Amino acid sequence: MFQIMQFIRVHLSCCLHCGSFRIENGLLCRSCSEALDYYAAQPRVRNNGVKLWSLYEWPPGQSDMLSRLILNLKGQGNDIAWNYYARNLVKKRWGSDFADVIRPIRVVPAPARNELNRDHAAQWAKCLAREMSAELTPCLKRTSQKHQRELDRGERGLVTLELIENSTGLLEGYSKYLWIFADDVLTTGSTAQAAYEALGRPPHFEIWTLARRGSLAEHP
Ligand SMILES: [Zn+2]
Repeated sequence: MFQIMQFIRVHLSCCLHCGSFRIENGLLCRSCSEALDYYAAQPRVRNNGVKLWSLYEWPPGQSDMLSRLILNLKGQGNDIAWNYYARNLVKKRWGSDFADVIRPIRVVPAPARNELNRDHAAQWAKCLAREMSAELTPCLKRTSQKHQRELDRGERGLVTLELIENSTGLLEGYSKYLWIFADDVLTTGSTAQAAYEALGRPPHFEIWTLARRGSLAEHP
């Protein structure tokens, strides 16, 4: 039943940008999908040496299509579209060399901000892990509110993460893994930094996101 619903959804929906019924993949028609390539992101190395792989750069106020895509992906029943974008990022990162990757991979989703929101980082991480037959490792949580209250005002704005109970064993032999921190949209990178710290600054650590949200200062 679910597959029938998915089939109907894919084949009877229209491109969310131009309304064309000739929808290809990822909620867009081919020409809109190609237009989105204009926003393709280059890999970046952050100040701490960590590599960031994003599919798209998302300059504030500059791409209606990308804003609409991300908003729509966050709706219900978009599993096929999430898979499509996850597959594209895996291809972008590894190209044809994926078979040569000998290091085991662990994909760690950004923990949800609160339990009411649908958890897109978890979905993104699940698709990435499935695409690479990697281990999905949801081992992080946000530091508890009680903890937060103990911090002074300056510190309270910082994101802090910790390992969930019973997951400290995961860090045994942690340096042999490639840890991929997966978040749907990366803004300041403070959550990714907190994940890097919580995992003990592993030597092989990358951030993988659907879109990197630039700041106004960067894109005036
Ligand atoms: Zn279109």
